[in-house]
Amino acid sequence: MRRRSINQSPVSVKHVPHRTCVACGKVKPKRALIRLVRTSDGSVEVDVGGKKAGRGAYLCQEQECWQIGLKGRRLERTLRTSLTHDNREQLIRYGKDLKESISDRGQ
Ligand SMILES: [Zn+2]
Repeated sequence: MRRRSINQSPVSVKHVPHRTCVACGKVKPKRALIRLVRTSDGSVEVDVGGKKAGRGAYLCQEQECWQIGLKGRRLERTLRTSLTHDNREQLIRYGKDLKESISDRGQ
């Protein structure tokens, strides 16, 4: 007696949009990432709701990716803009509030 797999019901498979982190290059579900958007004046801000219009880039919710993404010009290249010093600092500060990727390391 052959059994059919019951794990392949198409109804249970929801389409989840995926995006790529500009720092580590990992592809993750969109909501696991933080969207950054280039505003009309060329500055970059965190798009918390993920709905702002404009060219967007994604970073993981991890300090490490923000450091990598903001240290070099990856983010700027992706967004085709250049960050001012203040703008970069502002984003770095945001990144510092995120959890560290290795969270159970103690001090
Ligand atoms: Zn990442």
